[in-house]
Amino acid sequence: MSTIAENIATVRTRIQAAAQACGREPATIGLLAVSKTKPAAALREAFACGLQHFGENYLQEALTKQSELKDLPLVWHFIGPIQSNKTRAIASHFDWVHSVDRLKIAQRLSEQRPEGMPPLNICLQVNISGETSKSGCAPDELPALAHAVSQLPRLTLRGLMAIPEATTAVEAQQAAFARLRELSEAMNLNLDTLSMGMSHDLEVAIAEGATWVRIGTALFGARDYGAAPSSASH
Ligand SMILES: *Cc1c(COP(=O)(O)O)cnc(C)c1O
Repeated sequence: MSTIAENIATVRTRIQAAAQACGREPATIGLLAVSKTKPAAALREAFACGLQHFGENYLQEALTKQSELKDLPLVWHFIGPIQSNKTRAIASHFDWVHSVDRLKIAQRLSEQRPEGMPPLNICLQVNISGETSKSGCAPDELPALAHAVSQLPRLTLRGLMAIPEATTAVEAQQAAFARLRELSEAMNLNLDTLSMGMSHDLEVAIAEGATWVRIGTALFGARDYGAAPSSASH
């Protein structure tokens, strides 16, 4: 088996074990392969092992890979910070956006989602640990933002996303993920998605209700930000 195939098997085993440990059905937890900085060939290999959902953070890099992989039925998720001038391309090249944190961006995505496409699936990113450097809306601004976004015609508000402060302390991880779940439940908007958990904390996120775990390093290895992202695929 290749390294990627072995990694995928390991991550699937972790997801299954975590689901079993808390009495959840493993099929209710989606594995989103975070492929930023990785060449198209790596995504192709992951697809061959059964992965279909890919998360990208940088628009230009994602568009290049999408055109290199357009023969495959992949589902694309945008998970990075969003500038206004990128919304048109994001609205027409992605199936999901996990990183919406202000109304202006949501309005633009709704206006710019092409008519022939289904509504764009949206998660609102919440700054759950209150770090000033992090993206995400403040928890106390979330209900108003969520209600406004839920009214936009070309979007489907699916749920919430968070990237908690990096820590190896399980109790802190657990508290952050539980907070996201509680914020979601408190809004009564019938949200079905909690996008939380990465390579180092997916078990804790699953125990607190994650429906997407976003996994990069554990699938594709460490990222090398010095290398040109997509030229390596040729
Ligand atoms: C890079 C990234 C991930 C993946 O993180 P790993 O620790 O490599 O699994 C998940 N979510 C977001 C938003 C990311 O930017």
